[in-house]
Amino acid sequence: MLSLVGVSAGYGGSRVLHALSLRVDDGEIVALVGANGAGKTTTLRTISGVLTPVAGTIEFLGSRVDGRRTSDLVRAGLVHVPEERALFGPLTVEENLRMGAWTRSVLDFDEVYALFPILAERRRQIAETLSGGQQRMLAIGRALMARPRLLMLDEPSTGLAPKLTRAVLDAVLAIRDRGVGVLLVEQNAVQALAIADRAYVLESGSAVLTGTGAELARDDRVRAAYLGGGSL
Ligand code: ATP
Repeated sequence: MLSLVGVSAGYGGSRVLHALSLRVDDGEIVALVGANGAGKTTTLRTISGVLTPVAGTIEFLGSRVDGRRTSDLVRAGLVHVPEERALFGPLTVEENLRMGAWTRSVLDFDEVYALFPILAERRRQIAETLSGGQQRMLAIGRALMARPRLLMLDEPSTGLAPKLTRAVLDAVLAIRDRGVGVLLVEQNAVQALAIADRAYVLESGSAVLTGTGAELARDDRVRAAYLGGGSL
C-alpha cells in the first residue's frame, strides 16, 4: 500500500530523516516508535506532502507520490491526523465531520458515529468545548469522512486518561478491521506495539529495528531502550 525507500528529508538545511525505508501493507497497523526527536512526526509530514524529500521515493497504491500536493494525496486516500488535531474550534462536531468529507459527494456520518457514539450524542456541540479525548475522536472521525485507504495517526493517545486511551486504541483496531491501513506514531511504545501488526523503531531518522509488534515488545534491545532510557 505504502512504501518509502531511502527517504531523506528535514527542515531547511537540517536533515532529520536519513535514508528511511518502511512499508505498510493492505489492512495492517504499522507502528512507528522511537524517542522524542527521532523523526516520527517528520516521517508523517514527509509522507503526506507537507515536506518534500531530498532523496528517496515514496509510493502509494502503486504510484510515486513524493512531491505531490497534500490535497491530491487526500483524494487518493492517504489521510493524516496530526498530533495538534487542528479542529475547526468554533464549528460543531457535525460541521467538522462535514469538512472532512470535502473530497466526496456523499456524506456518511453513520460509520463514524458507530465507532465513536459520543460524537453522535454531541453532534451539535461546538468542537472547542469537547474534552481532549473527544477532540481526538473527532479528529480521527473527520479523517474517516474522507474514506481513507491509509490513515496516519500522530500520537492519538498522548495525554489521555487510560480509559480513553483504550477507547482510542480500540477504535484504531476497528478501523483496521474495516480494511483501512494505519500508520501509527506513538511515544508510548508498549501500547503501540500491543496493537500493531508490525512496527519500526526509529532512531535519529532511520529505522534501526523492525518486526511484528509482539516480536519487538519482547526484544531485549527495545525493552532496554524504553525501560532504561538507553540507545539502540
Ligand atoms: P516528538 O515525539 O518529540 O514529536 P518525533 O520523533 O516526532 O518526536 P520530530 O517531531 O519528527 O520527532 O522531530 C525530529 C527533529 O526535527 C527534532 O530534532 C526537531 O527539533 C526537528 N524539527 C521538528 N519540527 C521542526 C520544524 N518545524 N523546524 C525545524 N526543525 C524541526
